[in-house]
Amino acid sequence: MIDLLSSILDAIVALTLLWAIFRALRNLFGGPARTFVGSKSHGKPGPRAAQGQMVRDPVCGMFVSTELSHRLVEDGKTLHFCSEKCRETYQKNAVKA
Ligand SMILES: [Zn+2]
Repeated sequence: MIDLLSSILDAIVALTLLWAIFRALRNLFGGPARTFVGSKSHGKPGPRAAQGQMVRDPVCGMFVSTELSHRLVEDGKTLHFCSEKCRETYQKNAVKA
């Protein structure tokens, strides 16, 4: 009798756990879909790219944000490069010229 009761209790506990897992999974799969729609309405580029000014990399001609660029100060002017590589290329060319 006690064995039967404990096995019924085990079954109830197992079912409760399964239900909790199912609910958690449903929240997991339901959650990202909702936040994805939300982030879409916010705009993909994000607020980071909008910060600072967009300036042209003199080496490759790419536009870079002054907030994220690799800087080089030359004759009191700040030059902005998209990468360390472009800055190095510029410095090498400046030495040659
Ligand atoms: Zn570049």
